[in-house]
Amino acid sequence: MEEIMRLLENNDNLKELVDSLTYKEKVERSLTLIEEAYEKYGDGLVVANSLGKDSVCAWALAKMVSPDIRGFIVTTRFKPVETVRFMYETVEQYPELKIYKNDEDIPEQLYEYDPDRCCNILKVLPTRRAIEEMDVTCWVTGLRCTEGRTRTDYREVEERDEGLIKLNPILIWKEREVWQFLALNNVKVNPLYAEGYRSLGCAPCTNISTDENERAGRWIGTSKCGGECGIHTRPLKGEFANVL
Ligand code: SF4
Repeated sequence: MEEIMRLLENNDNLKELVDSLTYKEKVERSLTLIEEAYEKYGDGLVVANSLGKDSVCAWALAKMVSPDIRGFIVTTRFKPVETVRFMYETVEQYPELKIYKNDEDIPEQLYEYDPDRCCNILKVLPTRRAIEEMDVTCWVTGLRCTEGRTRTDYREVEERDEGLIKLNPILIWKEREVWQFLALNNVKVNPLYAEGYRSLGCAPCTNISTDENERAGRWIGTSKCGGECGIHTRPLKGEFANVL
């Protein structure tokens, strides 16, 4: 009998798929990826929900696969009040979403002169803690390859840390398709999008930008501009995970 190739093991040319698949085909592909991963990893599959539109989209897709899928939110002392309010509303609706935060002391305005260190302490460390405490073997993200300069070399299924699979089920979605999905499924989003933000983070490091690049409003004026907080680039599990 011919063995059925699972989407989880695909080696497709993702750059081509970004333009060749229709919205509906992308939704079906994402649901299949999550379904197959949930079948394989069970409760070890957990969604990282940053409360941005892409995470909220990945979370909604996961909930379509199973209402039992768990998730975590990493928040910081610098999140805008609107995001904090939205976080509590979301957690009230989905108590299976756990909040992680690092309250340790850090130098004042660290974000201005060393944003990498600030993000490491406030975002990467709590992400590692979530992965450890929730026994995560497969984390699901809302990463998209068309989102910015740093996000072009990812795969839908990756193992950047040994023993920890990273599933990026909406990797090939365009910004427009995310909004299409959220609108068609009446998914609530952070009210800050109505102000014109296209990518959301901590208040001191997030601006409204008219640049074509979706993440151009992040960390303006620093070497990190348009870049990453580190949860997608730093080790999250294993012997190097606690090295800052
Ligand atoms: S986004 Fe800015 S304030 Fe938030 S953790 Fe990173 S550097 Fe610090």
